[in-house]
Amino acid sequence: MGRDVPYQPGLMCEECGHAGAYDLMGDILCDRCASGEAPEEENLASAISKISDGFDALLKSGLNKKAIIILLQDATRVRRRDIKAVLDALPRLKEMYCSDVR
Ligand SMILES: [Zn+2]
Repeated sequence: MGRDVPYQPGLMCEECGHAGAYDLMGDILCDRCASGEAPEEENLASAISKISDGFDALLKSGLNKKAIIILLQDATRVRRRDIKAVLDALPRLKEMYCSDVR
């Protein structure tokens, strides 16, 4: 892969969340993800588990779901219905894909 794209230590990889990534025509990827290496299954499962738990906690915090949807819509211009569908799915990912992870 060409290295004419600048490495940006402040960017966060869209795939794995690692700090330090390249802006590849709009895709923000770290070296590892850009090379096509899939994350290890265990890491992916625990990542999904963390996302589900974290989102659960977020919904129970001061920011309620409606506020989060409004903020996300403002930031992305995605339809609220679509945002809501994604948000509803996040807490379910853990039970759907991580049966062995707690
Ligand atoms: Zn990555």
